[in-house]
Amino acid sequence: MSNEIENGALYVVATPIGNLSDITERAVKILSEVDFIAAEDTRVSGILLAKFGIKKSIVNYFEHNKKTAGQKIISELISGKSCALVTDAGTPAISDPGTELCENAHSAGIKVIPVPGACAAITALSASGFDSRRFVFEGFLPQDSSKEQVLSSLISEKRTVIFYEAPHRLKKTLSELYDTIGDRRICLARELTKINEEFIITQISEAKALYEQKDPRGEYVLIIEGAPDNAEHFWDRLSVAEHVDFYIDKGLSKMDAIKACAKDRGVPKNSIYKELI
Ligand code: SAM
Repeated sequence: MSNEIENGALYVVATPIGNLSDITERAVKILSEVDFIAAEDTRVSGILLAKFGIKKSIVNYFEHNKKTAGQKIISELISGKSCALVTDAGTPAISDPGTELCENAHSAGIKVIPVPGACAAITALSASGFDSRRFVFEGFLPQDSSKEQVLSSLISEKRTVIFYEAPHRLKKTLSELYDTIGDRRICLARELTKINEEFIITQISEAKALYEQKDPRGEYVLIIEGAPDNAEHFWDRLSVAEHVDFYIDKGLSKMDAIKACAKDRGVPKNSIYKELI
């Protein structure tokens, strides 16, 4: 594939997650040669660009302006300009802004070109020693009532589970994990590619105890071993009504509880309604 910039293309450019030397030669070339850069935070990306001597016009594209900023970027792309999308660190659209822009670009017939590089989830998994043949990436745990449902779904999840967590929520999350899925092997991949990089591979109970003694610091990827093959579903011994009540007790509306129950059992919502009636 040619590395020449294509007019009217959207480049989705991964940037380092700590160690700036992890930027790729291709990323530097693309960032230097596109017409403009769309960045999650112009200040953060400005530091990266300055390090590589790149002077370029930058526009903001972040979670709360993605609709209006996205429309402007799409118009520029349609007019033939090339754009590189970057986020503060890692791969755009992976728990970061970018998904809608790529979706809208595809819909408008704009060519979307990935420029791969660092991604914290894959970086952590690659060195964790955990089963990487079958894994699921959850991103950040939701902070609303659907969190319970995501945690409950992990009880019978056999694939390795990867998610991101902020340090100030880590203690609570470890407790919730322990209360929901019990004690499992966990890898806390901390400060990847940075001076204090650390892989803490232990049991959830031990990780909980560790952070009772000190506060979590830095950035974390959590990797949890999948459920053993003979793991039961938590709802195996519940009737349909008890299963729905389980979610209502966790704070879901009746409608959402029915949906969650149907999803767990792999059946249509209607069959749960009928059973309840
Ligand atoms: N798009 C990014 C990627 O490709 O990894 C992720 C962006 S998300 C907003 C930021 C989260 O990724 C952090 O809260 C942390 O969980 C994880 N993360 C990013 N950099 C990291 C690092 N150097 N070490 C460990 N985790 C990191």
